[in-house]
Amino acid sequence: MKIVLPDSSELELPDGATGLDAARAIGPKLAEQAVLVRSNGSVQDLRAPLEDGQQIQILTTRDSDDPDALSVLRHSTAHLLAEAVLRLYPGTKIAIGPPIENGFYYDFDFPEPIGEEALERIEEEMRRELAEGRSWNREEVTPEEAKSYFAEHGESYKVELVDTAEGPITTYTQGDFRDLCRGPHLQDSKPIKALKLTGLAGAYWRGDERNKQLTRIYGTAFYDQADLDAYLESLEQARARDHRRLGTQLDLFHLSDHAPGMPFWHPKGMVIWNELEDLRRREDLKRGYVEVKTPLLYDVATWVTSGHWEKFKDEMFIVPYSDRELGLKPMNCPGHMLLFGSGLRSYRDLPLRYAEASTLHRNERAGTLHGLLRVQHVTQDDAHMFVTPEQIEEEIFGCLDFAAYLYDLFGMEARFELSTRPENKLGTDEEWDFTEGALRNALDRRRIEYTVNEGDGAFYGPKIDLHMTDVLGRSWQMGTIQLDSQMPARFGLKYMAEDNAEHTPYVIHRALFGSLERFIGILIEHYAGAFPFWLAPVQIRVIPIGEAHRAPAHELAAKLGEYRVEVDERNETVGRRIREAELEKVPLLILYGEKESDEALAVRERGGEQSTKSLAELREYLATL
Ligand SMILES: [Zn+2]
Ligand SMILES: [Zn+2]
Repeated sequence: MKIVLPDSSELELPDGATGLDAARAIGPKLAEQAVLVRSNGSVQDLRAPLEDGQQIQILTTRDSDDPDALSVLRHSTAHLLAEAVLRLYPGTKIAIGPPIENGFYYDFDFPEPIGEEALERIEEEMRRELAEGRSWNREEVTPEEAKSYFAEHGESYKVELVDTAEGPITTYTQGDFRDLCRGPHLQDSKPIKALKLTGLAGAYWRGDERNKQLTRIYGTAFYDQADLDAYLESLEQARARDHRRLGTQLDLFHLSDHAPGMPFWHPKGMVIWNELEDLRRREDLKRGYVEVKTPLLYDVATWVTSGHWEKFKDEMFIVPYSDRELGLKPMNCPGHMLLFGSGLRSYRDLPLRYAEASTLHRNERAGTLHGLLRVQHVTQDDAHMFVTPEQIEEEIFGCLDFAAYLYDLFGMEARFELSTRPENKLGTDEEWDFTEGALRNALDRRRIEYTVNEGDGAFYGPKIDLHMTDVLGRSWQMGTIQLDSQMPARFGLKYMAEDNAEHTPYVIHRALFGSLERFIGILIEHYAGAFPFWLAPVQIRVIPIGEAHRAPAHELAAKLGEYRVEVDERNETVGRRIREAELEKVPLLILYGEKESDEALAVRERGGEQSTKSLAELREYLATL
């Protein structure tokens, strides 16, 4: 048979030849370094047979940053982990152990629970296996053979996996450990030059919370120790920026099981919250929005009218009320529709822009909650614009301009994505040509670069979403701008147009921060907690050197009363008080001792730069921050 290599050359091989045979036919060095076969976007074990005419690429240990090459290395390391665990903890049952982004995990059912401290011991055992050397032996077996083998060894999870497996059943054996596995695997453990177990977590068998909770051990592996070192370093940096850790360190908020996924905001966190609220309100007013307030709870019938009941019911909290049920709002739209419909509207009233930063509740699955980034208590900087068809483009432009202003203010780069007509769209293609065109024109006019998600729009209209990435590299949706032709019709909304006939307005749903909770979470990570002066919960901290300096320190703080100033007069050393202010990332410290007065203040900036300024000079400087 013939196979095709990446340079389009053909290689003649005997029938039944494997990727390893192909590598050997090309050269002994390649055969030694080969780790995996990639073929038309999928991967297969070097020892799996090739097919006549198959196009293949052979990945080697030199492809040390190729995601597929890393996956096969890491998955093979997961098998070493399972072998080590079974040797150290007899009676443990093994479940699944796939490669994931940045590493691998393996799920175990331990007879006795283990703690983080066990990881070191297990890692040591894995290193011992590496030192001894392991090779992987791949076998195709019948389901009956596989089941009887794993049943004999007490591996009930594996038996269950055989029952639901599709395609041929294969096992991989290294040393005295045999695992049910589709592969692919390395030929042997030589390419595993660096490994690390990174953590422990609970995980339900098959991801179903009705099943038994297993212990998941996370780890990673690399082709090179330097790659692992670099990865651990970046992980440490990411951890230091993690908003959950900084939230505690900076005393901004906490989360508790008393109210799952609903943050408790501490006084310092509220300072940031209120600064963002003030910013939103100021800009909304400047840009012609009017503020409204609508109820939190609505009769289920309202949610049926809005369409949320059909699409969003499972994510709503329902509250019984006399003989009916009320739904806690997951979105503000119905309230704003009812408000618009409460009076007679003329084209002269449009565009009408209702803004409301209300609290919304969304019933999220417990496992998906994540710090401030996924919460059940969501506060959106929400607005709904009621517009005529002619006003769509200008309003979208206004939203984009507003969004660009906000994200620029924080030096954050959001990714803009335009989502177009889906298969289940309502309305004609001509209508969609018009609405999508209006969004594209507005994006182009505001000179915003964007990607297009074909077919990803809502059934009622196209939308523009803003995305950001957190320190762990995960993408989160922030703001959204959605054009909607359906909800106003569902609520029977009308306005009197210039032609003296009643027309249904379009509505634009818009949130720019998105959720204030999520935005603050991203903001904490973006600044690594070192907020700009205007956002910092404590802007200036005065540290009196000795007891005698406490009174003048307080006098100074009072003179700077328009700022958020604290006096740290605790009986701690000056060095310690400075260090703590640095940990809290306070932008400006003023040390007040014998030599200080309004004429000469010792000012220390975040980052350590020191200068002497008179009070007047300090005021001038603060005005520039
Ligand atoms: Zn495997
Ligand atoms: Zn809405």
